[in-house]
Amino acid sequence: MTPHVTELPCMKQFRLVDGCLALGGRPVTELAREAGGTPFYAYDRGMLDARLAELRGCLPRAVHLHYAVKANPMPAVVEYMAERVDGLDVASAAELELALNTGTSPGDISFAGPGKRDGELAAALQAGIVINLESFGEMERVHRLAEAAGQPARVAVRVNPDFELKSSGMRMGGGARPFGVDAEQVPELLQRIGDYGLSFQGFQIFAGSQNLRTEALTAAQDGIFELAYRLAEQAPGPVKLLNVGGGLGIPYFPNDRPLDLNVVTDHLAGHVETCARRLGDARVVLELGRYLVGEAGVYVARVIDRKISRGRVYLVTDGGMHHHLAASGNLGQVIRKNYPVAVATRMTEAETGKASIVGPLCTPLDILAEQVDVPAAEPGDLIAVFQSGAYGLSASPVGFLGQPMAAELLV
Ligand SMILES: *Cc1c(COP(=O)(O)O)cnc(C)c1O
Repeated sequence: MTPHVTELPCMKQFRLVDGCLALGGRPVTELAREAGGTPFYAYDRGMLDARLAELRGCLPRAVHLHYAVKANPMPAVVEYMAERVDGLDVASAAELELALNTGTSPGDISFAGPGKRDGELAAALQAGIVINLESFGEMERVHRLAEAAGQPARVAVRVNPDFELKSSGMRMGGGARPFGVDAEQVPELLQRIGDYGLSFQGFQIFAGSQNLRTEALTAAQDGIFELAYRLAEQAPGPVKLLNVGGGLGIPYFPNDRPLDLNVVTDHLAGHVETCARRLGDARVVLELGRYLVGEAGVYVARVIDRKISRGRVYLVTDGGMHHHLAASGNLGQVIRKNYPVAVATRMTEAETGKASIVGPLCTPLDILAEQVDVPAAEPGDLIAVFQSGAYGLSASPVGFLGQPMAAELLV
């Protein structure tokens, strides 16, 4: 393996077959044929299992583990995860339909998102899932739609906390946000939920995503449980559900260290005990996307051309930002850094020099990796981008420049 691959501890999970990167014991060259060509994404069931086992091994038994579908909505992945987690979180009517099709019980599906349309709310009411209310206006619409349809509305309140998750890759709480209801406005919202007779389920408090710092994550847990206890005093009924979000990160870049999971889950265990005393049978839900699926996926593209421009080597591939916006550095990164990449068809060959790996689009933004050490790759070789199981294809501008869609395989 090339050094830039072995540096990342997660890469130990991958195997080689005749020097070629393999998933599920099958070399990516074979997977490319099954996918009908390149580029494609492949997700490894064994790695999903390993991550779930690791989590279950250290999470308190009472904690329910939910999968946030938006991290990877490939139907086969959603089905696979649904059979192994305790619930699903969705963020659109399309994701809701996916979730319902897995047979997950409606009470174990929750629907978040700041701009739910009436049609989506009606579908959620019809299905009987838990709607995470994000504003007063949304609550009014849910009330109206529930009355019109003669259906009960199961609602939880998504709270925009009055603290921030520090050093999070993507902050989603604290300060002014489009997400959730500001903590200080929640008591008034709870009052109205009671007045309208909506079926109050509890709270969702989600502070941020992609965090690798245990101190920040445990501090966020402290804030979340404290806030929940405070708000519970004003609730129109018992808190049945406390969704504490997730935020667990995975390492992408050379200086990232994998999360020390036990520290986070041990700390959570302490809170869960206190919570059982303070909120009775409130079910604590941990809602994870990236941490569950992110490391189990690779994106594979084929080298179309190798060229040299003023001394720099470019490997031009058939895949790029249109399928993998995050790896191109254009999905929220401030400073572009390379995702871990490798020449998948030459994993055991020594590096011969640096190259930039770019996509086929006519834009300088279409970069998969800049100036990385690679073996002597030629047209026809396959490039793998690791850590690509979450926020990959569905988070990319697939229509850009009329490029063909990428296939997805669960292997
Ligand atoms: C996106 C999202 C998640 C999942 O976040 P990850 O960082 O992928 O674990 C969980 N809950 C809510 C409300 C979200 O919007």
